[in-house]
Amino acid sequence: SGEKTNGAGLLFVPPEVKFTKLFINGRFVDAASGRAFETRDPRTGDVIATVAEGDKEDVELAVRAARKAFDHGEWPRMSGSERGRIMTRFADLVEQHADELAALESLDAGKHPAVTKAVDIANAVESLRYFAGAADKIHGETLKMQGQFQAYTLREPLGVAGFIIPWNFPSTMFAIKVAPALAAGCTMVVKPAEQTPLSALYFANLAKQARIPDGVINVVTGFGPTAGAALASHMEVDMISFTGSTEVGRLIMEASARSNLKPVSLELGGKSPLIIFDDADLDMAVELAVSANLFNKGEACIAASRVYVQEGIYDKFENKLAERMKSWIVGDPFSDPRVSQGPQACASTPTLVDKTQYERVLSYIDHGKKEGATVLTGGNPLVQKGYYIEPTIFTDVKDFALQHLYYLSDLGGTFAAQEGMTIAKEEIFGPVMCLMKFKTVEEAIERANDTKYGLGAGVVTRDLDVANQVVRSVRAGVVWVNCYFAMSSDVPFGGRKMSGFGKDEGMHALDKYLALKSVVTPLRGSPW
Ligand code: ADP
Repeated sequence: SGEKTNGAGLLFVPPEVKFTKLFINGRFVDAASGRAFETRDPRTGDVIATVAEGDKEDVELAVRAARKAFDHGEWPRMSGSERGRIMTRFADLVEQHADELAALESLDAGKHPAVTKAVDIANAVESLRYFAGAADKIHGETLKMQGQFQAYTLREPLGVAGFIIPWNFPSTMFAIKVAPALAAGCTMVVKPAEQTPLSALYFANLAKQARIPDGVINVVTGFGPTAGAALASHMEVDMISFTGSTEVGRLIMEASARSNLKPVSLELGGKSPLIIFDDADLDMAVELAVSANLFNKGEACIAASRVYVQEGIYDKFENKLAERMKSWIVGDPFSDPRVSQGPQACASTPTLVDKTQYERVLSYIDHGKKEGATVLTGGNPLVQKGYYIEPTIFTDVKDFALQHLYYLSDLGGTFAAQEGMTIAKEEIFGPVMCLMKFKTVEEAIERANDTKYGLGAGVVTRDLDVANQVVRSVRAGVVWVNCYFAMSSDVPFGGRKMSGFGKDEGMHALDKYLALKSVVTPLRGSPW
């Protein structure tokens, strides 16, 4: 595992795949149906491993195990400090296996191993430690009631949590969902994405080593419409936390409504704006725009795919951005020494996760060209094995919806009937940036909010008043000022509008896994 030197330089050697079965009640087991599916290395299309294909029956067994561990097991009943100690041990084990986990994840998701270790796995460890520390700090409040009564609240573990997670940050997603649920004393069933099932199974093994009791964490690998849907509609699952597309988020909520009305927490798509003002440091702003779009190949719900630059610096910004992209590398970090390590790792785009995603992104690029946007850089796939696409920056992008054209137009009432372009409206989930020009702060805010999504936003300016104005006006779950993508386990993360609701990370995330119970007792003199 990890790094090995050979003639060509420092390359990552793919790790051996050890865990390919469902993890139910503390044991790795085959799917009840005996079926399995292939998970592939998107760099080559080669099969990495054959993984058990869980279905409704397996979800049933996993939920039963989680139910039993919750209703009769020790996890919800032990002291918070003891749970915290076990979680810390889990975090330590993840940290000790960071190289292997990062390599495994990179192989499965087409990521850069060094970046995955430094970001994805580090975040997972941090999240487990953060919530380990929270496990013994869960308490209610005492309330003075009307009349001869008093009340207090209990915050009790909610029950069995169901997690359905995506393929772009599988390890981080696993940890940020599981950690607060563990701290709260819940038990759980995790359904990883079918594109990237391996890391969740690896985590399951480490959880067992950490002596998290059997049945507390169960992992059912398999497909969305079968295993995922069975989890979302299960009558014995007490809540669902989902991260993925808005489309599937809607199905999860429907499944909840049709079954037992379990609360859902949804972290969905985005089309996040980054607003760069005239007074920005140009070099810094270009770097920020690039990383805000291209980190993790643009396969990030929070990617700042709409970049608005004020007219005073627009031309300079565009030129510098085009210049910057000349040294950008599209390539395979496993075999290309130019991108295998160091700062270049962050200035390179590895393969997209699979063929479906690759074709989807290419069709958006094609659509953008047809809609009349100009390709500033990129715009093509790489003709080689794998799913590599050049980072693509579009200019001459029209995002104006009808009402805004009317509202903003200085055409004196002439009403140009024009819809915004698809590439400016829909989430592309790939290395594609829409670069646009604006005049005033009011216009930027108006256009930034002209989206069905509300996940992230960024503002680059040295003017505190302008920054504050944007921060307060933009409808998003996270706003970054003069930075982007900075995340941490203590900072709530989650969107609004059609980007979903409910927070992962931060103490707010704990609430999702706790049931608030009000207890009323009589005082002396009460008629009772
Ligand atoms: P993407 O489109 O980026 O692949 P999805 O929202 O389809 O994202 O997938 C995110 C997760 O949701 C995956 O684990 C996937 O298997 C799961 N999923 C997909 N369809 C359903 C469904 N109908 N019910 C439950 N889970 C689903």
